[in-house]
Order: sequence, then structure tokens, then C-alpha cells
Amino acid sequence: MEKLYKFCQSCGMPIKTAEDSGTNADGSQSGRFCAHCFQGGKFTLPDLTLDQMKKRVKGKLKDFGIPGFLTWIFTRNIPKLERWK
Ligand SMILES: [Zn+2]
Repeated sequence: MEKLYKFCQSCGMPIKTAEDSGTNADGSQSGRFCAHCFQGGKFTLPDLTLDQMKKRVKGKLKDFGIPGFLTWIFTRNIPKLERWK
């Protein structure tokens, strides 16, 4: 069985439920990536760079009302995620 991650290995967002999880080409759940990043076995934004991803996640966190200084905590680990290795 594929290793399941608690956080998306592309954007770092938590994967808590089956709906949060991305899907593989065969429609099964991806254990690695969230639904925003990965659909049908492909990245939704395949050409996204690491910097663009950081900006994207920061923007999303701000949308959720999370203050800027806290978004740093979420985004600092993004370079360590599987997608960016
Ligand atoms: Zn993601």
C-alpha cells in the first residue's frame, strides 16, 4: 500500500478526509497529494514553481483569515515536501 501522508506533499496543506485527498489516474486516492494539487494522476498546475506554490499557499491562508506572520510557519516546510525534492 502506498504511504499515506498527513500533509499534501506538494502544498503542505493537511489531508484529513478522503475528500481532501487527490486522485490517481485510476480514480483511487492519492496518499501523497491533496485534491487542490493532484487530480486523475496529474498535478493540476504542473508548471508551478516552488516560489509560485509558496505565494499560492500564503494567499490561501490569508483567505482563511490567517495572519501573515503565521503563514510563514506553513510555507517554510514546502521546499522539504516530496514534490520539490
Ligand atoms: Zn496540495
